[in-house]
Amino acid sequence: MDLFSNPCPHCGGLFNATDLAAHQAVCGPTVSRQQAVEFILSSGGKVFAVEAIKRSTGELRLYNGRIGVHAYVNGRGMAYDPTDKGLLTIFDMAKHGYRSVAVEGITRVKMHGVWHRVSD
Ligand SMILES: [Zn+2]
Repeated sequence: MDLFSNPCPHCGGLFNATDLAAHQAVCGPTVSRQQAVEFILSSGGKVFAVEAIKRSTGELRLYNGRIGVHAYVNGRGMAYDPTDKGLLTIFDMAKHGYRSVAVEGITRVKMHGVWHRVSD
């Protein structure tokens, strides 16, 4: 019997395996949108994970990417300009190409190995 034997690492609630996954989408630590952006911008070329709603299609997407490569490529000197349409340019490790992530579409970011929900 392993019903309700899986603890949520955040709140300690007990769930079966299926419900735990659903629960963790709504439970857990939160960060502000600004904190999430600052975390991504200070990642210094390390791979990070972020989940965001794609501005053009409205679909939820998971990105494993790096930031900072772009600045090297285009010589602009800054990977992110906050006035530049609210877009983060990241190098998507899975797609091997640059992707724009809309700051207002970020739903979750993995920080220090733990998924954080982004709240406004
Ligand atoms: Zn929980």
